[in-house]
Amino acid sequence: MGSEDLVCARCSGLVIEGRCPTCRASREYLRRNSVTISPQLILAIIAIVMMLAALAVRHAT
Ligand SMILES: [Zn+2]
Repeated sequence: MGSEDLVCARCSGLVIEGRCPTCRASREYLRRNSVTISPQLILAIIAIVMMLAALAVRHAT
């Protein structure tokens, strides 16, 4: 799992290819923060997002 596989929401291309300004900005951001982001942190973020999504579904019904 790495930032190389991220797909841009604007141009639908790979962020690392830098096809649009959003890609290039994201790529710079990832490059600067890649040292501090660990797989454990990503898993923790995913767990929090899923928990929030579950809460949102519960509130919606
Ligand atoms: Zn893009």
